[in-house]
Amino acid sequence: MHLNKISIEDLPLREKRVIIRADFNVPLDESGHITDDTRIRGTLPTINYAVDEGARVILCSHLGRPNGKVDPRLSLAPVARRLQRLLGKEVLFAEDCIGAQAEMLVNRMKVGDVLLLENLRFHLGEEQNDDQFAKALASLADVYVNDAFGAAHRNHASVAGITKYLPTAGAGFLMRKEIEYLEGAVANPMRPFVAILGGAKVSGKIGVIENLGKKVDKVIIGGGMAFTYLKAMGLEVGNSLVEDGMLKFVKEIYEHAISRGVKFYLPVDCVAATTPNPGAETKIVTAQEIPKGWYGLDIGPASVKLFTEALGNAKTILWNGPMGAFENDAYSRGTMAVAHAVADAYALTIVGGADTALAVHRAGVSESMSFISTGGGAALELLEGKALPGIAALPTKPT
Ligand code: AMP
Repeated sequence: MHLNKISIEDLPLREKRVIIRADFNVPLDESGHITDDTRIRGTLPTINYAVDEGARVILCSHLGRPNGKVDPRLSLAPVARRLQRLLGKEVLFAEDCIGAQAEMLVNRMKVGDVLLLENLRFHLGEEQNDDQFAKALASLADVYVNDAFGAAHRNHASVAGITKYLPTAGAGFLMRKEIEYLEGAVANPMRPFVAILGGAKVSGKIGVIENLGKKVDKVIIGGGMAFTYLKAMGLEVGNSLVEDGMLKFVKEIYEHAISRGVKFYLPVDCVAATTPNPGAETKIVTAQEIPKGWYGLDIGPASVKLFTEALGNAKTILWNGPMGAFENDAYSRGTMAVAHAVADAYALTIVGGADTALAVHRAGVSESMSFISTGGGAALELLEGKALPGIAALPTKPT
């Protein structure tokens, strides 16, 4: 599967000022330390390539939601320090992403130098996709590379507006990989193609369920959302998470899938608890025998067997959403078991969503997956079949 967008390898980089929009929106603890640098590491291939090709590399990103105001707690300075260590070279830092200081630092840059600009969202113009802000940012560079897949669903200046002023533009390696897997594999999958969907609610994933439902051979539903399906089938689900407003929708989805020959798998048992709180009394019950007042918080062992069996002949697996309230060890076994089943499948395996990526990591099987997406909201929107502003803004390859 090939991306029809211009990518970094198609662009002139030597001696150019190349601005790379990265997704350095990393989690920080109270004292401002980076607790997970996966996103920074994700962009290293693009940064290293630009350095090796002799570019002057200008990096920019947002961090958190400062809403157009300078907030020292959301400074990208810690990211500059981490990058310095990961790249093994000096990373310059501009305390404002536009303006005189940034311009001066850029003007002094030598070939192969790396400069990180301060948080883009310290300016209101970023989220407003303001023309003047986009122009000011663009004026720092000759070439634009977007590697911030996690922000590709945002119609923001550094993601969308900037290409108006910097038309020499393309996708970075991470962006390219995300699109190739999430769009490519879904558009043209090796079959059987199985989607595993979980997480708390049906309502958060309506678009994904609808779009994928048209493309897959099998659907496996777990997590909180499964109880809305079970209730729609007429089962008693106790106090489990149910969205009554979604009952009609899930019934239609189910019937539509069945009428097209899609195999539809729901949990046949669950781990039920007297309360959703840690330390509650739990028991394994069949989906038909959830006691009134109990909470279904994980899929049970029979469901794990069933789902594992259903994955056995899969050639493409897309997984989004945990099978239970996996943050609590008592309800994590279903998710861990499915992580192993996906990892063991002789298939192209794509994992999306921050929770699912974390679960896969905890199960110790990250290395066995073909691809783990770094973009939560962006990945969901791409799986919904939507056009993302950050991808739409990149020029298409001439045919
Ligand atoms: P989402 O963000 O929609 O992918 O949902 C992820 C969240 O769903 C996780 O925090 C899980 O704890 C939660 N979750 C999964 N299964 C259940 C369940 N059976 N009951 C309540 N919450 C659940």
